[in-house]
Formats: sequence, C-alpha cells, structure tokens
Amino acid sequence: MGLLDQKTGQGGVIVTKFDDLINWARLSSMWPLGFGLACCAIEFMSTATTPYDLDRFGVVPRASPRQSDVMIVMGTVTFKMADRLRRLYEQMPEPRYVISMGSCSNCGGPYWQHGYHVVKGVDRIVPVDVYVPGCPPRPEALIGGLLKLQEKIRQETIVAPKAIEKFLEREETT
Ligand code: SF4
Repeated sequence: MGLLDQKTGQGGVIVTKFDDLINWARLSSMWPLGFGLACCAIEFMSTATTPYDLDRFGVVPRASPRQSDVMIVMGTVTFKMADRLRRLYEQMPEPRYVISMGSCSNCGGPYWQHGYHVVKGVDRIVPVDVYVPGCPPRPEALIGGLLKLQEKIRQETIVAPKAIEKFLEREETT
C-alpha cells in the first residue's frame, strides 16, 4: 500500500508509518553523482535530457558527492581511477547507493579478458545496489535501474528500533 493510499477521516489526514514517510521522501528525491568514465556516460547525458524527464522521479544530478545519495558509475573503471572512485563514494553521506551502468562497470565488459588496466567490476571497489546491463544501456534501461533502486529504498528501515524505544521511554517519563 502506498503512502497516499492511507488517507482517512474528513480532514485530509494521512496515517502512515514513520519509515514509509521517510522512505517516500528519500526515494522521491534521489540525487545522483554521475561518475562518467566512457561511452556509457553519453547515454546518461541522453537520459538527463528533456524527452526522458528524470525530474518526474525526483532525480536531479549533482556535481558534489556531499550532496548526492546515489553514485551512477558509467563506463570503464580503470585501476588508476579506482581509488578516486572509492574516495568520492566515501564522501557521500549515508545512506548511499551505487548503480553500476553498463557491461564495463558491471564486469569489465569488452576488456574482461585482455584489459590488464580494467577493474573487472566496480563491485570490487564499492558495494553495488543495482546493475544495469547493456553496452551501452539505453536510457530506458537506466530509468529501469533507478526504479529498481526506488523499490529497494521503499523496503528499508533506517530508523533503528532502539532509537524508537528510547524516544518512547523518554516520552513516558515526561
Ligand atoms: S559498456 Fe560498452 S558502451 Fe559502456 S563504457 Fe563499456 S564499452 Fe562503452
């Protein structure tokens, strides 16, 4: 049941769980840090154009890792870039996510066998939440990956049960 399905009463009151409310806000405002490394980045640029209208999903690309909660790795990850990628990932606030876009990022792609300089999958450097297949993936495929990530966020619990217990205890004693 979606957040807005739980409407009740005469005054437009919505009853929902705290987690659902927070998750609804988070999944409706995913701000990606685009990590463009090769040709897949061109497809991302296409995805960010008006015909695909990423804004309708609340996806607004940012230029700083500190303002981003989703890193989209698009292209060939070389060993030389690996530590830069990891550093930028660590600069993102938590909770943070990674989408691996395209065969190169997923597993090394065409460089799988002979690419001595290519990392065989970005998941060897950072944890990946969603893999988007293709060489390159079409914009529709990337949008599909973003929707998958939204589904994942929808299921999460980010408020620790202990924190809720403490809050309720404090409320009872005051
Ligand atoms: S997956 Fe294909 S299109 Fe994407 S960066 Fe690699 S070679 Fe280029």
